[in-house]
Amino acid sequence: MIEMSALTELYKEIALCQQCEIAKYRTKVVPGEGAEDADILFIGEAPGWHEDQQGRPFVGPAGQYLDELLASINLKREQVYIANVIKCRPSANRDPLPVEIHNCRQWLDRQIELIRPRMIVTLGRYSMAMFFPGKSISKIHGSTQKQDNVIYYAMYHPAAALHQQSLRQTIEADMLKIPSLLTQVESIAEAEQPPRQLDMFEA
Ligand code: URA
Repeated sequence: MIEMSALTELYKEIALCQQCEIAKYRTKVVPGEGAEDADILFIGEAPGWHEDQQGRPFVGPAGQYLDELLASINLKREQVYIANVIKCRPSANRDPLPVEIHNCRQWLDRQIELIRPRMIVTLGRYSMAMFFPGKSISKIHGSTQKQDNVIYYAMYHPAAALHQQSLRQTIEADMLKIPSLLTQVESIAEAEQPPRQLDMFEA
């Protein structure tokens, strides 16, 4: 019998979740996807129409742009993990409600526990607020915070850059900083424990 990974088991639990009203209206739940041992976890806001249809994160226009941003640092989405603050689509793409963020937090926390990323990249203000409370994205984008050997890095949401051309340069420059930040966190971790292979940025 093929054993299911702990993350796949978790997806099954997430798919059963009916804690919020929006769960009734979803086409598909969008737990997240990517490498189960990813070094980098990207956290967006909430599924949009395309994501709700497919049950996959960032597959609409913002996702295509995220793929381009990843390609700019030689990464494919399969090499990282992509999740959202909330796993169901809010109706008419409204902002997530505090109660939805609260109810869904348990799933994100369990994803983080299982994936154990070295770097968590917040995309937009909702995921930023979880790890950089009280901060403003315009002030802290492109900056990091380190805790327990995990580096937290705040970026604008790719959709914001699609709507506001002036943010494109900023988000693209912030993305380009990721490889060296990851190398830094890796070298600190390596000094503390036996080395782990990091070959994701090799050509
Ligand atoms: N925007 C998000 O924040 N997440 C998605 O999955 C798609 C668009």
